[in-house]
Amino acid sequence: MTTAAVPDLTAYDEAALERAFAELMEQASRDAENLRDPETVEAFRQKWLGRKQGRLNEISGRWLKSAPPEAKKSIGQRFNELKKKVEDMLEQASGAGPGDAALAGESIDITLPGTRRLTGAEHPITRTLNEIVAVFAALGYSVGVGPEVETDFYNFESMNFPPGHPARDTQDTLVVANQERRPPRDRLLLRTHTSPVQMRTMEQQPPPVRIVIPGKVHRNDAMDATHSPIFHQVEGLCVDTNITFSDLKGTLDHAMKALFGSSVKTRFFPSFFPFTEPSADVQISCIFCGGKGCRKCKQSGWIELLGCGMVDPAVFAFAAEKQPAYDPKEISGFAFGMGVERIAMMKYGISEIGQFYAGDMRFLNQFV
Ligand SMILES: [Zn+2]
Repeated sequence: MTTAAVPDLTAYDEAALERAFAELMEQASRDAENLRDPETVEAFRQKWLGRKQGRLNEISGRWLKSAPPEAKKSIGQRFNELKKKVEDMLEQASGAGPGDAALAGESIDITLPGTRRLTGAEHPITRTLNEIVAVFAALGYSVGVGPEVETDFYNFESMNFPPGHPARDTQDTLVVANQERRPPRDRLLLRTHTSPVQMRTMEQQPPPVRIVIPGKVHRNDAMDATHSPIFHQVEGLCVDTNITFSDLKGTLDHAMKALFGSSVKTRFFPSFFPFTEPSADVQISCIFCGGKGCRKCKQSGWIELLGCGMVDPAVFAFAAEKQPAYDPKEISGFAFGMGVERIAMMKYGISEIGQFYAGDMRFLNQFV
């Protein structure tokens, strides 16, 4: 790669030029025989086409520039031929790919087993939640969604939990700090139920309404076998003219049979919720013993599963502030709510609620 590789031209007649260029052509051909891999190809390219010390650069600098005017054309033509030849050699070499040795080094044994890619599956909570929603979707319900960080008004006040009402104590939650300057009803907290979406939906649309509201809720409950500070709910709301308690009973009886099997029975007990009047707790016949009595149902044959009731007129009054059609004298409705974890635990025979959140693959793989 030194200048010595390109001798000075001593004569400029055609025969001398022919000899000189033939010699270079032969050198290039010899070099090109050794092209095996990207490294040798690159060395060849540097040697012949390199910007600083490449031979073609050398030839153009020394032969062409110092040649007498009458020889320049001939040298130029031969130079271009040589350059073209070198470029062809390079192109051929780089298209040739790696040699046999290189290929052998990276051979693949196609008889080895492949790498199995893990596919995702629904978490048992998600699956149960979707099942519940599907039961109501089949009855014509649509799905309502709302924020998890909610105002005091939507979470409590509009659901008929007035400030200072003792029912608020049963749904203690995390409250966003430094909000003293806001009016109490605008202060933010983590929602304790998905009920605020009932009010948000009614404010957005006049009756009739039929929605289910699945979602995550937060309460100041200590973690134990059946309680968690974060859990999931599906609530439902149905509002129309002439909605009665028997509509509520029929709807929930159907839903429980769809979820747990057609032999399941339901029964309703008086209860209290601020946003419904009258209110009821719903029990289903024990799915483990069929109602005979076992350890799971504490020998009673029944399991308490959800709460429900007829929408309290006070709740409609809040909705009527934005949608006058929610006049409790004209319309009626029912609402219900159920815990997704509780239903999933029953359906799958799980005794510890914490297992849903532990991320233990041995547990989760059972549901794939
Ligand atoms: Zn039982």
